[in-house]
Amino acid sequence: MPMPSFDTIVIGAGPNGLAAAHRLASKGAAVLVLEAGAAPGGGAGLAHLAYNLDPRVEAAMNLSAHGLVWQTANLATTALSPDGAHLRLEGAFGERLSGDLPEADRTAWAALRARLLRFAAVLSPLNRIAPPRIARGAGNPMTSLAMIGLRARMLGAAEFRELGRILLTNVHDLLDDELTDPRLKGALAFDATLGGWLGPRSPNSVLPWLVRLSGQTAGVQGALGVPKGGMAALGAAMASAATARGVTLRVNAPVARIVIEGERTKGVVLASGEVIGAARVISAIAPTTTLLSLVGPRHLDAGLVTRARHQRARGGAAKLHLTLRSLPDFRGADPKDRLIIAGSEHDVERAFNPVKYGRVPDRPSLEVMIPTAHEPAADGRHHLSAIAQFAPHAPADRDGARAAMLAACLAQLETHAPGIGALVEDAELLMPYDIEARFGLPGGQWHAGELSVEQMLFLRPLPGIAQYKAPVPGLWLASAGCHPGGGVSGSAGWNAALAMETAG
Ligand SMILES: Cc1cc2nc3c(=O)[nH]c(=O)nc-3n(C[C@H](O)[C@H](O)[C@H](O)COP(=O)(O)OP(=O)(O)OC[C@H]3O[C@@H](n4cnc5c(N)ncnc54)[C@H](O)[C@@H]3O)c2cc1C
Repeated sequence: MPMPSFDTIVIGAGPNGLAAAHRLASKGAAVLVLEAGAAPGGGAGLAHLAYNLDPRVEAAMNLSAHGLVWQTANLATTALSPDGAHLRLEGAFGERLSGDLPEADRTAWAALRARLLRFAAVLSPLNRIAPPRIARGAGNPMTSLAMIGLRARMLGAAEFRELGRILLTNVHDLLDDELTDPRLKGALAFDATLGGWLGPRSPNSVLPWLVRLSGQTAGVQGALGVPKGGMAALGAAMASAATARGVTLRVNAPVARIVIEGERTKGVVLASGEVIGAARVISAIAPTTTLLSLVGPRHLDAGLVTRARHQRARGGAAKLHLTLRSLPDFRGADPKDRLIIAGSEHDVERAFNPVKYGRVPDRPSLEVMIPTAHEPAADGRHHLSAIAQFAPHAPADRDGARAAMLAACLAQLETHAPGIGALVEDAELLMPYDIEARFGLPGGQWHAGELSVEQMLFLRPLPGIAQYKAPVPGLWLASAGCHPGGGVSGSAGWNAALAMETAG
């Protein structure tokens, strides 16, 4: 093993790896980030909206000084209707609704929206701490949970009971109890299940939604942001901030193995065979990949290996990119909006059903963004970026499923923007398995491991290793697969760096 030139190696230059690297470099560590791809940013290049960029990360990395400018920090959503009777949700998380809507729904939505944001705000401090340890002898493990419990209790008895009730119900029933309008319920059901492997009727589907709603953009809870230059520009700003802080960043440098000698982490071996020594390694790629592939089962407890193999990482989101000759017309909707094609909460559930059995839905739900409506391209063409749910992560015939999914997405778009098919110059559809191959997210899973109740908090990424510390001394875990999960937030990376500082 060569003499280490760096204190810490970070594997992966996604949002979490860059956030962790920046934090550690700020504390004086010599940090090397190794990125498999040709550019830093990771899944930020896949994303098209910001919803949970960690305010600690944004401020400490001074991202505005490194090129982050919000094109809009509070994007409106339009729930599309095939007959052009759209519903527009303006302001953060549909603060104002415009469009034809029963008065009773407006009133019920105002109350439900306020309640969901309130509950999410109570839970949001959880994003900024390592999950409490449950093990015996773990000091005062439950203090942070008790604090959250106290905050929840301070909502008042009725609200506290309601929080408990909705956590145990599902998104479909919650929406159905309060609202009648299918466009509104469809858009909300889509939002609630975005990035998950669950439909609106799946049990425990409300908690992941509250986690999503606990995020903010530019200080506004529930707001959606579009950076100038797109989300890739946000990844680039994070990389620029990290390197300005003294972090060394190497791209095209995939790590093949973590070196463990004498039961301690000693460094890494790149796919090229190059060996780089460091006393600490932070893996900001999926925890299961880290443990099972880069560390290897022989260095791990057999029980942990089994748990890692059983961790669920099914991605249900596909990504569509279209190059269009001109701007499509979604029956009068503002092309700058986030456009949701969901129909109703039932349609979202119907789009999930076949995916459970490895099949493609006839009518996937879509979240459509047209970045060129915000920033026109020099050649006058338009680019459409859409997240399509749901898509099977492991169909028997991958090429066939990709072709069927593309056809289903284009049919959905044609229904809502007649003539769009004739405008398409180029189409690319990334299925979850394509995303896994390109971005290294197991199963193409948004959170590098499903963010479901049984894989959250002290159970994330796996029971027994939820405080960012891997079971091998000197190795730490920091990706979206750790608490509090994914999105272009940097939270897990920041929390991991804090945990390392505390550990000394
Ligand atoms: C279809 C889809 C759409 C999404 N849209 C959005 C969105 O609109 N908004 C949003 O906030 N989030 C979105 N997400 C989620 C978001 O992209 C991820 O949650 C987030 O990128 C996770 O950050 P990370 O830093 O943990 O990991 P990643 O961003 O996955 O970064 C990990 C990095 O490690 C690198 N790497 C992998 N293996 C190795 C290795 N062996 N050696 C060296 N480097 C390696 C990868 O190349 C990658 O750059 C989306 C996800 C999907 C699947």
